[in-house]
Amino acid sequence: MHLFRRSQVLPGEEFAALRSRLHGRLHLPFEAGWDAARTAWQLAVDQRPVAVVEAADVVDVSLTVREARRLGLAVAPQSTGHGAGTIDASGAVLVRTRGLDAVAVDPGPAVARVGSGATAGALAEAAQRHGLAAVLGMAPSVGVVGMTLGGGLGWFARSHGLAANSVTAIEGIDATGAVVRADASHHPDLFWAARGGVAPIIVTALEVSLHRIGDLQAGTLMWPIEATAEVVRAWGAWITGLPEAVTSLVRVLRFPPAPGIPEPVRGRSFVAVEAALQISPPEAEDLLAPLRALNPVMDTIHPMAPVDLGPLHGDPPDPSPAIGSSVLLKEISPAALEAFITAALAEPSEALVSVELRHLAGAVAPGRGTGGAVCDVDGEGLVYCVGMIPAPQLAAAVTSAAGAVVDAVGPFASARVVKNFAERPVDAAALYGPATDRLGRIVESWDPHGMIRVGHPIPVASV
Ligand SMILES: Cc1cc2nc3c(=O)[nH]c(=O)nc-3n(C[C@H](O)[C@H](O)[C@H](O)COP(=O)(O)OP(=O)(O)OC[C@H]3O[C@@H](n4cnc5c(N)ncnc54)[C@H](O)[C@@H]3O)c2cc1C
Repeated sequence: MHLFRRSQVLPGEEFAALRSRLHGRLHLPFEAGWDAARTAWQLAVDQRPVAVVEAADVVDVSLTVREARRLGLAVAPQSTGHGAGTIDASGAVLVRTRGLDAVAVDPGPAVARVGSGATAGALAEAAQRHGLAAVLGMAPSVGVVGMTLGGGLGWFARSHGLAANSVTAIEGIDATGAVVRADASHHPDLFWAARGGVAPIIVTALEVSLHRIGDLQAGTLMWPIEATAEVVRAWGAWITGLPEAVTSLVRVLRFPPAPGIPEPVRGRSFVAVEAALQISPPEAEDLLAPLRALNPVMDTIHPMAPVDLGPLHGDPPDPSPAIGSSVLLKEISPAALEAFITAALAEPSEALVSVELRHLAGAVAPGRGTGGAVCDVDGEGLVYCVGMIPAPQLAAAVTSAAGAVVDAVGPFASARVVKNFAERPVDAAALYGPATDRLGRIVESWDPHGMIRVGHPIPVASV
């Protein structure tokens, strides 16, 4: 029996005790600031919780869980709201942890303690101050906790694996309101589940290993969209036998004619290769020669520090409305590349700002990561396409264009879905594969009545 499903708007008096004790803020419907408080980074999602708590510290999170439990309400943890499409916040207390944004780096053992409100960009900057780097996703504005719970695929994927594999401890508040810490020797089941699977707690901090990155050359090569077939085929040949020190992707980009877009690319369309190469400048020169021989109109690849990778993928820094879809490819075969080219150039794809294909394998290949529920990716390539929807009437065209890309590359798909690139709830077995049943049992043991709503709900026997 699911005990935490009340969805009506509760009278403000019900929350008076919680409000008086919080260090942070409680927001209720019809009060000033309600819409701002319930708005996620992903503006395409309209969240309708019964209350929003902006936690200022761990005590606030615990108080909120205890009070929600007394009221028979579920709680939905959220940091930035980049992944808001995967969670059902309706009728729940939305617990926003973005105020817990401290990042502390201990350079000796090369570890960072990261609050559950810290962004990837903040962790990258803190690590860089000590000559270190974190394994992160590509976008600096995402929350470290949400990104890591979903695996975390970024510029060091092929050399260092998923971000989840760098986690050494996780702390949070469980469904009873108690503080919990999980690591290799405490609550090993929870520690296993949280790495790439599900954390049935409200996470308040993570501890992660940091890494020393030596030489790093990174940037973008760009050609007019008319060169797409030639460039995608050349990239497909280029990644064959590529060292794991190189992570790259190819994408078709259609920049809208919007004032915020830099003048040289505004309103124009390109095919681009983005790459991060952990090799010396002369080695990079040699390796990149076949791509540079195709005469890119823009070439920004240059030596940089890991923190400078932040803007490379061009993710929007501010909250945005977008709809995206992904397909994990078993292999980046010639036939899969042709399907990608056709889909990216098809007329409906003009509704999409980006259609990309990421090269995986290397350190994310099956069997390379260990210790967590999902510590690798069962496919060599990840297709992700996305369109902006500044006006609601554009959603249908973007959804249909993204669906057409998914259908076109579908024959080459793996049975699995990459959690961070699934923007709407997905069947647990597709996300977690053989880890699904054990994850269900762990979720049930920590949260038997489904009080904590996680992204991509996982079925448990008693709910
Ligand atoms: C523009 C953009 C670019 C992206 N690029 C990449 C990329 O390159 N690589 C990659 O791997 N991913 C990428 N992502 C996906 C992103 O990593 C996921 O959406 C991730 O879940 C975002 O985490 P968040 O904390 O920012 O979002 P939120 O929506 O706040 O959180 C997402 C989910 O994480 C869980 N969660 C968050 N905070 C807590 C908490 N305190 N306690 C317990 N659970 C919590 C919840 O289940 C929540 O629903 C991108 C997303 C966007 C929108």
